Amino acid sequence: MNTPFLSIEGLAKRFPSPDGPEPLTVFENVNFGIERGEFVCIIGHSGCGKSTIMNVLAGLDEATDGVVIMNQREVKGPSLDRGVVFQNYSLLPWLSALKNVTFAVAARHKDWSKEQVRAHSYKYLEMVGLADGAEHRKPSQLSGGMRQRVSIARAFAIQPELLLLDEPFGALDALTRGTIQDELLKIWRGTEQTVFMITHDVDEAIYLADRILLMTNGPYARVAESVEVGIPRPRARDEIVEHPNYYKVRNHLVHFLARRSKEMAGREHATASGRPETVRFDEPDDERPAAPTLYAVNE
Ligand code: ADP
Ligand code: MG
Repeated sequence: MNTPFLSIEGLAKRFPSPDGPEPLTVFENVNFGIERGEFVCIIGHSGCGKSTIMNVLAGLDEATDGVVIMNQREVKGPSLDRGVVFQNYSLLPWLSALKNVTFAVAARHKDWSKEQVRAHSYKYLEMVGLADGAEHRKPSQLSGGMRQRVSIARAFAIQPELLLLDEPFGALDALTRGTIQDELLKIWRGTEQTVFMITHDVDEAIYLADRILLMTNGPYARVAESVEVGIPRPRARDEIVEHPNYYKVRNHLVHFLARRSKEMAGREHATASGRPETVRFDEPDDERPAAPTLYAVNE
């Protein structure tokens, strides 16, 4: 069997319990692989452990059990092969937006001249619409959305083999979000990059991903399903809803979030293998787009 580019085996995260000997198990037996060049999104309710999994993939947090293998090597610490956009857009507060990017680019390309580093960094700041003077401001002088854009520019600019994105577009207005999603797709298409992205936006996941991993609620959360989107690329934002798979996938995701993530929660529902079940909608039984179903997502 071929080993995938990225392989997550038996991952678990436990915290010592404040009131008893039983530790708190956030997730356990999390197993999945990602092929080189794949774009994978992960969806699950708040608190199930998505950011923790991403930090383990980044080498910034340690799992209690299990291993992460990238390119046949165990991930043991951070590396410039992996670019991260955090949920809380962490930038170096004492550096300007531009320097936050050049700092990372210079670390990645030690042989580049100052001018090369600067030109390369500007290209990415332009991409996120921040090369108009805002690049000289420090993070405290930027809005939340602007800080998020700097952090996106920084991660993209180092052109990592694996791009790890934690709800990267959450703080952006719809127009900017659309533009940056399209830039992300363009960059991803033009490179061999692999993307692992956390989102809570089902439409964003369907528009961007090849595959969407679904996590059950914690404690004892796990990746229960791997949904193949099966919509050919390039995808046009205004036409994608007409593809026969669109609402099938969307309804499946919404139903999972509204009902099944809770019904399937808990240790007793875990399968022995712990591998996510593959869900495919590639046999269109009906060429008309399926109608959306509506659920109240309040729990
Ligand atoms: P998500 O990104 O899916 O919202 P996180 O990965 O941020 O979830 O958090 C997963 C869970 O881990 C949360 O339920 C959180 O309460 C718990 N957690 C995080 N840090 C600690 C800690 N130091 N002690 C106990 N529980 C923690
Ligand atoms: Mg999170």
